[in-house]
Amino acid sequence: MSEQTKGKKNVNRFRDALGKGEFVLLVESPSPSLSNDPIAAGERLAALEETVLSITSVNTVLALTDRYLSLDAWRALEYANALGEENRDRHVVYLSGRNTGDGELEQLAAVAAKSRNFNLVPVSGNCVPTDTLKECRKRVFSESVGIIRDLAAKKQPFFLGGTVNPYAYTPYTIMGQYFKLVKKLNAGASFVVAQAGWDMLKLQSLRWYFSGRNLYDPMIARLVLLTPNLVEKILSGGYPGVNISPDFRKILEKELRYSLNQFEAAQYRRLELQAAGCRLLGFSGIQLAGAETPSRAKVAAERISNALKEFNSFEGWLEEYNSYLARAEMSPFSHSFYLYDHALHRAYPADETPVTRDFGEPEVSSREKLAFRLRRFWFENADKQPADSRRMLKRIFAACRGCPRCRLPRTEFVCTESCPKKLANGPCGGVKPHGNCEISSGECVHSRILRLAYWDESMQTLEDNILDSGFKQEIIKHG
Ligand code: SF4
Repeated sequence: MSEQTKGKKNVNRFRDALGKGEFVLLVESPSPSLSNDPIAAGERLAALEETVLSITSVNTVLALTDRYLSLDAWRALEYANALGEENRDRHVVYLSGRNTGDGELEQLAAVAAKSRNFNLVPVSGNCVPTDTLKECRKRVFSESVGIIRDLAAKKQPFFLGGTVNPYAYTPYTIMGQYFKLVKKLNAGASFVVAQAGWDMLKLQSLRWYFSGRNLYDPMIARLVLLTPNLVEKILSGGYPGVNISPDFRKILEKELRYSLNQFEAAQYRRLELQAAGCRLLGFSGIQLAGAETPSRAKVAAERISNALKEFNSFEGWLEEYNSYLARAEMSPFSHSFYLYDHALHRAYPADETPVTRDFGEPEVSSREKLAFRLRRFWFENADKQPADSRRMLKRIFAACRGCPRCRLPRTEFVCTESCPKKLANGPCGGVKPHGNCEISSGECVHSRILRLAYWDESMQTLEDNILDSGFKQEIIKHG
């Protein structure tokens, strides 16, 4: 990225690099715990920034994630302000909606604008892994779609990203992720970050689906440079939405028995192959987690840059990728759903739009159909009526929680307040690969809405609506 433009007003080197089609490496650093000495944490971050931004073999950017797995952490925007001003256009700062109400979001938007941190990725936030369902329900989750829409409406040159979890393995779970991403793009997101994972076929499906819809916003794939600690954490379910297939689990368990040097070598080779594959699949860059020390970031960047030179044909890359992973199955269960047949056998065809697989009849039971018809009969105009009209019927047939604004007609008559995070616009990234909720035991509310929308042929309406949450809630502070 050009050094001459450094610090100049209205220059955004991250946005410009994506605009020019340059491959970008975002090195991720999580915001530190509040119990850390802030001066020491700031110094560590500054050392990482200096190393990352001085790398010349590949375009580099620093990505600061916001309270990813813990509440006891600095806000990424505060943490970003520990760095000098001149390179803020080479920072991407995450903004989590977890435990963050409208007032705090307004303040954070003002801080971002004042400090010229314009590259922002709003996320709704995940439940803390130790949260019970009850605790999760008490939290406020400001939804990413709404944050993106509100930031995009401000008179600031925000350059906003939207996240997606492409690693979903039933038709309605994956289409839920895609349709929510379309909403984020419609709300004002200009680039996409795909959640961490290892299934390249799913990354390819994401690219194909959006290209097939003529949506060419730059996409960045989040990859993880694994350490033994991280492997243990992921295998024990400590990272919501990050999944490991049984085959891949066996590979990792075997690698854990290697010496540390051999383990590291295996991780770097996997990273090289994934990074080169991402570029060949049409991704505009990768965001790398697990390389948050200057030495790891430097080695990773060098390895990635070499891999980008080593693999310049899709076929050559595919051969090496398949032989390295010994054709391991990356899907978490048998009969996993993929949107395209034989996708990873070829690069995106220049002269045709790949055809998506037929989902078959939507899986909607006769009981669900009957309940849907009854709700439609009673509540067809509920969004235009006073919220308390037909309250008893709503309570019995739609588990109504008494929102001041009813949205039933716009959510296939399923109340989205039953989502533990009360998300109204689609599933969160923590949804399980088979469509179950991240935190409660049943099906994700949005997978259910999607099934009904396909059956009712109202997908387009569902995708076009951007909904606000039913309540304005007070933040409930925890511990
Ligand atoms: S119901 Fe769906 S969107 Fe809501 S928390 Fe569960 S998985 Fe996430």
